[in-house]
Amino acid sequence: MTNHEQQLIPAAAAFRKALRAWFAQHQRPLPWRTEVSAYRTVVSELMCQQTQIATALPYFERWVQRWPDFRSLARAKEADVLAAWAGLGYYTRARNLLALAQQVAGRPEPRTAAEWQAFKGVGPYTAAAIASIAFREPVAVVDGNVVRVLARVAGVKEKFKDTTTAAKSFTPLANALVDPKHPGDHNQAMMELGATVCRKAAPDCAHCPVAAWCAVRGRRDAASLPRFEAKVRKTAEVARALVHHRGKVLVRRNPREARRLAGMAELPELATLGTAVTGRPALVRRRTIGSVTYAETLLEVAVTTALVRTWSQDAGLEWVAVAELDAAALTGPHLRWVREWLSPADRPKRGKPL
Ligand code: SF4
Repeated sequence: MTNHEQQLIPAAAAFRKALRAWFAQHQRPLPWRTEVSAYRTVVSELMCQQTQIATALPYFERWVQRWPDFRSLARAKEADVLAAWAGLGYYTRARNLLALAQQVAGRPEPRTAAEWQAFKGVGPYTAAAIASIAFREPVAVVDGNVVRVLARVAGVKEKFKDTTTAAKSFTPLANALVDPKHPGDHNQAMMELGATVCRKAAPDCAHCPVAAWCAVRGRRDAASLPRFEAKVRKTAEVARALVHHRGKVLVRRNPREARRLAGMAELPELATLGTAVTGRPALVRRRTIGSVTYAETLLEVAVTTALVRTWSQDAGLEWVAVAELDAAALTGPHLRWVREWLSPADRPKRGKPL
């Protein structure tokens, strides 16, 4: 630990008290806070990783209405689980959640972070969240928000490779600060502080409950912490085909053993249409109707979707009625493109309940 990190530890009691008082007054009333259980904690934590809380909220509400506990989720079909997750991205989380429910259902729930972390797909962050929030184990949750708060409070200028490396580095300090009597509230308060006050680009130091202990409070360069090594981004072009025929759309479902988006459906790549069956040159007419760029870890993928009028079909393709695209586990961006680009009369309805 740095000197400033060490100086923080004697002030831990006052720091916790100020943080908890602020949280009691300012916390957002989220459904997993008003009714707490290990199941609701794990669902919310997995949904909110890589996803904004506002986006995850309606998914969470529908999910716990349909599968209120590990036991009911354990009986669900994977296709239904993936369809319910469609739009949140990072589908491994949905598959891991189902696998976790199948292992946990019908036996006494584990209570400690170490026990939870033994399950596939439950990392140190999620395990600490479940154990501290649902079972009051005094272990710190260290996510990107907490890393930001601690890096600034302790004035750490070191450059980290990524958030995971930074989280590991800040875990001893976070554990030293965690409130032994109210670890769940403390952890949620730290995350809430990072999300709403100690924001990435614009920390609101004037309204910060822990400003008294912060090494960079009110300073212009506060927003520059934490520091990360620059990432090298690559760009790739992918052309997708939107084939619409008699109220149905052609999709390709990834095999269950696929490393990427296993079991999920996607619009087929244009290059794969029109060649497999006859071996003749593809009879594909295309019109580029849009493109999108999004970040996938280190990869920026530019996607061009083409409307296709003629095609050949191979075994990996399937037709899905436009009205049933939600249930077909079509990945979120692809569902959005279909919604945006089909004529209004043919568009699937938004916000279909699970
Ligand atoms: S004082 Fe400012 S920089 Fe420090 S933790 Fe609070 S909001 Fe963040």
